[in-house]
Amino acid sequence: MRTIDIHAHITPVGFVEANKKGEIWHGMPIDAMSIHRNNPKTTWTPEERLADMNSLGVDVQVLSTNAYFYNYEGDPKTVTLMTQECNDYVAELVKDHPDRFSGFSTLPMQDVKAAIVELERSMKLGLKGAMIGDNVNGETFDETKFLPFWKVVESLGAVILVHQGGDTVVNQRSNRYHLPNTIGNPADRAVTFASLVFGGVMDACPDLKICLCHGGGYTCYGIGRMDRGWEVRQEAREHIQKPPSTYLGKFYYDCLTHSEPALRYLIDSVGIDQVVFGTDWPFDMAIDWPVSWLLGLESLTNDEKEAILFKNLEKLLGI
Ligand SMILES: [Zn+2]
Repeated sequence: MRTIDIHAHITPVGFVEANKKGEIWHGMPIDAMSIHRNNPKTTWTPEERLADMNSLGVDVQVLSTNAYFYNYEGDPKTVTLMTQECNDYVAELVKDHPDRFSGFSTLPMQDVKAAIVELERSMKLGLKGAMIGDNVNGETFDETKFLPFWKVVESLGAVILVHQGGDTVVNQRSNRYHLPNTIGNPADRAVTFASLVFGGVMDACPDLKICLCHGGGYTCYGIGRMDRGWEVRQEAREHIQKPPSTYLGKFYYDCLTHSEPALRYLIDSVGIDQVVFGTDWPFDMAIDWPVSWLLGLESLTNDEKEAILFKNLEKLLGI
């Protein structure tokens, strides 16, 4: 059975090499590498990565530059140059190993025009879309300034992978116990779903292809309450005529729930055609043996496993 992983990160080689020489890379501090040091896989060569993919049984990784490189707070010109180098690197790997890698770009989202130009450029290089954060310096994607971006995403047929970067909504309440990640990531994902739906973006751009990482976070578990809010509160109906639950099937969700009952509930809530394989390689919060884990789940049928492991992504990405 073929396996395609939509949630697999990479650190740009230019950054790794600059750090080894003690040089600044696109304005990033010299000690920036320190956050990668506890994870040797972030500096692995493509050959080492491929060997690990082989051991895991992963045929294709859809590469995304890891979220550390969003740099949405940085100078737009500097960050645009950085994203170009990141995206050229990913495109080169895809070109060198077309049967093993596909790729997403990273974009300077603090400058919507520059983000559009870089998305168009990277799609011409063969990338399939982009990975972006849940917010841009605190602004969610229902802000009208982002609508031109969503229109271009829709017209290009680009796939957008939504993945947190930096602080989550939990940081202001607690920085303990890894909660900004374990609770914050899924909470941020629900905010992103809700912003795009309640904000009318999904109605303005009905053909968007958006994949929410980490199973969409708390979206499914919280959808009943979002529907209730839409029923009883005028402000929740400002932009949408239908309850938010009717939009669940318009998004894609990776299977990274770390829980079989949660994955089963996700499939039953959004439909099997919307759930895709994602592992979060190479970070510690990834699934250790993702293909084995998925294949071993007793509550999923073989057809469902095939849909998640490769069929849905073959269709979505055209690979
Ligand atoms: Zn990730």
